[in-house]
Amino acid sequence: MAHKAPGRHHREGVTLLQIADMFSDEAAAKEWIAQRRWPENPRCPYCGTDNVQVGIKHRTMTHRCRECPDRRMFTLQTRTVMEGSKLPFRIWAMGMYLFTTNLKGISSMRLHRELGIGQKAAWFMLHRSRIHVLYLTSAGAGRTHGIAVGPSSDSAR
Ligand SMILES: [Zn+2]
Repeated sequence: MAHKAPGRHHREGVTLLQIADMFSDEAAAKEWIAQRRWPENPRCPYCGTDNVQVGIKHRTMTHRCRECPDRRMFTLQTRTVMEGSKLPFRIWAMGMYLFTTNLKGISSMRLHRELGIGQKAAWFMLHRSRIHVLYLTSAGAGRTHGIAVGPSSDSAR
């Protein structure tokens, strides 16, 4: 494993303990994912604006766009690889982390073992991740946001 390989440098010095701390609970994992999806402010996944209402009163939705004509509602998962998944944020965050820090890719067996999830769930996660290459797409905005690990966030496509 080359130390200077692109995309790997961020892993230097990160211990398993630190990774466990990063995703200590659902709120922390959700925050980590949110930081990757929305480094600044939450953006509407349909039109791309950041003129968005946060924490709306709704059973399942958390955000509402103020600029879409129908003021569409959405969540952190909307239009991402996580959409429609019942897996917890901790699992997604760990899976994304493992995936993005393994240049050779990661097998569903390894996700299954390391995340303690069923083989079907692991396969589902990996399948989706491969299709989207872990990129959270912001349709309307016409660009994609990578889920990068570490401070130098990868905003290119
Ligand atoms: Zn919108």
